[in-house]
Amino acid sequence: MSQPKLLLTAVFGPYGVKNKYAESLGMQMELLNNQITRMQGVHSPRQSYWTFPLYLLAENISVETTVLDFPSWREFTREMEKGYTHVGINFIVPNVLKAKRMAEYIRAKHPGVKIILGGYGTIIPDLENIVPHDSLCKSEGVRWLRAYFGEDTEAPVRHPALHGPAYEYLYGAKGKPKGAILMPGVGCENGCKFCITSHQFKKQYHPLLPTGKDIYNACRKTESEIGSRGFTILDENFLKQPRRAMELLEIMTSNCRPYVFDIFSSAEVIKKFGVDFLVRLGVRMIWVGVESKCNDHDKTRGVDFRSLFEDLQSHGISVNASTILFHDHHDDKTIREEIDYMIGLESDFIQFMNYTPLPGTALHSEMKEQNRLKKLAYRHQHGAGELFFVHPHFNDRKDHVRYLRNAFRKKYLAGGPGVLNMAVTAARGYRRAAKEFAEREKMGLEWNPETLRYEKSRDPRPDEFMKLRIRMMRRIAENVRPILLPALVFAPNRAARKKARAAARLFNEILGKPNFKQRTVSIVLVLTGAIETIRILASRLLGREGVVHQPKSRSVRYPVRMAAERDLLSEVRDRVSSAMHEMIPTYHEMSKEHKG
Ligand code: SF4
Repeated sequence: MSQPKLLLTAVFGPYGVKNKYAESLGMQMELLNNQITRMQGVHSPRQSYWTFPLYLLAENISVETTVLDFPSWREFTREMEKGYTHVGINFIVPNVLKAKRMAEYIRAKHPGVKIILGGYGTIIPDLENIVPHDSLCKSEGVRWLRAYFGEDTEAPVRHPALHGPAYEYLYGAKGKPKGAILMPGVGCENGCKFCITSHQFKKQYHPLLPTGKDIYNACRKTESEIGSRGFTILDENFLKQPRRAMELLEIMTSNCRPYVFDIFSSAEVIKKFGVDFLVRLGVRMIWVGVESKCNDHDKTRGVDFRSLFEDLQSHGISVNASTILFHDHHDDKTIREEIDYMIGLESDFIQFMNYTPLPGTALHSEMKEQNRLKKLAYRHQHGAGELFFVHPHFNDRKDHVRYLRNAFRKKYLAGGPGVLNMAVTAARGYRRAAKEFAEREKMGLEWNPETLRYEKSRDPRPDEFMKLRIRMMRRIAENVRPILLPALVFAPNRAARKKARAAARLFNEILGKPNFKQRTVSIVLVLTGAIETIRILASRLLGREGVVHQPKSRSVRYPVRMAAERDLLSEVRDRVSSAMHEMIPTYHEMSKEHKG
């Protein structure tokens, strides 16, 4: 039998464009513009994320593999000519018709090729009748694929060095994506009844990077290969593994590496850790599920969200709060109250999403039992459009779309642009961290990694790590500063203009006057923002909500030989690094010796 040769592919583009295979609304390959800064026009940062799990899979098998990301139909069919034995298609539920077209094409033109389906699209109960395939990967993919090809399922996971977005635009100006991505595990133990992530993995967490050291090593590898020191952690509830997070902080501290993280975490674990820990860990943004003002989920019971968010933001941690519209208790009055409650929490960003009983969730079973599920084509099941269950008060599609859109608009008009909020949070956090650092030094307080508190110490050591962290916080505030001018120029109303002016004063007070480079970047952003505003208006005339960007496709090849070499290289690097570490005394040891 010939050697296996695997193609791992995303579904084909264009994306966010209504055609035979998919919808436009809710279907752009963008998280921020689609569901967080929606309706914020030119203030909405535009980023498209690569299909990261495909790279993780390819990195962890020895079969010769190609990852094809964001292909056009032509690129996909051309790639198929290269003689693959297996094709893995990753898709989500609303893209099922794209997966179907790809699979049918493979069956017709390359009948010997085995088709594997993966991603959240595999929850579709009658998938068998829609997309031809040979195998379904419904569990954690790395172990599944290794088992499929007869490889060692328990070998340690190699984390690839992955740049964040495929593209990045801010006020219409193209940026150079610098952030990176980490995928330390999948699933969540909390089991919220609507949550597909939790139910897909049977309410269990499956770690890919089980220890803090594993995560630290992945960060080091990424920093040395692509230079990133800021990471978005794609883990549904990162702080739910407390030992791992604590170990990560300890290792970063002893190696003087103040990495920065954007994370997802539920409120109950954030409260357990406390904000001082999060600041030391380098959390820049946190995504927290509020879900409903009723606080009827275990993770939110008894949480005072306003004070939690203020605590986080005043320490420099931006908050993206998420909530669900069209709970059963929502009628015209209560849904408006819910939206107002969320806006009143004053988070930097809000994700509003319509209640969605995805197959496999407890919510889906509950609604099925109550005979409330409606037939709605899978391509429409994306959470930004029509509900597919019978609601006690809302059963008109137009309402489902309208309330959601208006909620985003209201947040924008009441709270101003999300990027402006984020800038204010960064500046406040830097100021507070610097002030508290000085106070702690005066009072002789020292960080206790066990209690996660600053405590009185007889012989406090200098907190060199926190000095580096504060320097990093300053840099974050300086980097975001140029958006203040375009935020003012394109502000939607008087309140937002006032906020932008107050932010400029705050920055002047904390960081001094902007330098030449910052002023120049600000002016460029105003110019590009003006052009982008015209493009947005033109798109609206064509009936679209805004400008639709298409990510460029790319293919990455993973030859077998490379995997072995990469392993060897990373082992050598780890050994050299730990040998160096043992040979060179840490800063603390040196300063102790010096004192002595
Ligand atoms: S806490 Fe978040 S990730 Fe975990 S089950 Fe609930 S909604 Fe899902």
